[in-house]
Amino acid sequence: MATTTNKQRALTQFFSLLKNCEAAEQEARPVLEQFIYGVCREDATREQADLAFSNLRERFFDWNEIRVSSPREVEEVLGDLSGPEQRAERIISFLQEVFEATFSFDLESLHKKGVKQAAKSLQRYQASSDYVIAWVLQNSLGGHAIPVDEPTLRVSRRLGLLDRDQEEREALRTSLEHLVPKAKGLAFTELASHVGQEFCWDDEPNCSACPLAAECPTAHELGAEILSAARATRTLARRG
Ligand code: SF4
Repeated sequence: MATTTNKQRALTQFFSLLKNCEAAEQEARPVLEQFIYGVCREDATREQADLAFSNLRERFFDWNEIRVSSPREVEEVLGDLSGPEQRAERIISFLQEVFEATFSFDLESLHKKGVKQAAKSLQRYQASSDYVIAWVLQNSLGGHAIPVDEPTLRVSRRLGLLDRDQEEREALRTSLEHLVPKAKGLAFTELASHVGQEFCWDDEPNCSACPLAAECPTAHELGAEILSAARATRTLARRG
């Protein structure tokens, strides 16, 4: 298990090695829109989420039209997001719940609640997830929250920012929130997602192209494995 000091050192290296990668500014959006954007952004690249969200805005007249559309119609505009059917169902069910409760599509009153109360309110929606709540808190409500999806989790574990035996998503998010200062939360979210999607693939991470490879313990382990496999092959060839 990595010590806190080691994790802090790994985080400093993370920001230092990625200093040339731009963490694009998030667009300011109302709470309701940030929730829907969060549903699109989980396990997706920023470009995929941007495209899906702008399609939702442009191909439907308003949020009410999406609410009364079929999942199939919504799914069709989500581009190449993974699990489009489930995402479409979540977006429709969220809009339906908001409309039934408020007869509008406005959740700006959450700004007046404290961050904890706002998180509880968001949690009540069926379409909610730990990621989406953290996304809205971080991007709309001024809270210190780190949305953790699969790419972010993979990168954080492989870099040693999170312990590998830690499983529970909420606990993992809390660990990252303790480690990453609030002022760097947005940059961390964007950069970890970027590395996870571009280099740190699930099966075979592309460490040779990754800007973090020099300081990444997993890249070193994988490098050692590849070297010892090559040595074993050479030995077998000599004996043959
Ligand atoms: S060096 Fe390899 S394992 Fe480490 S973060 Fe980059 S892609 Fe992932």
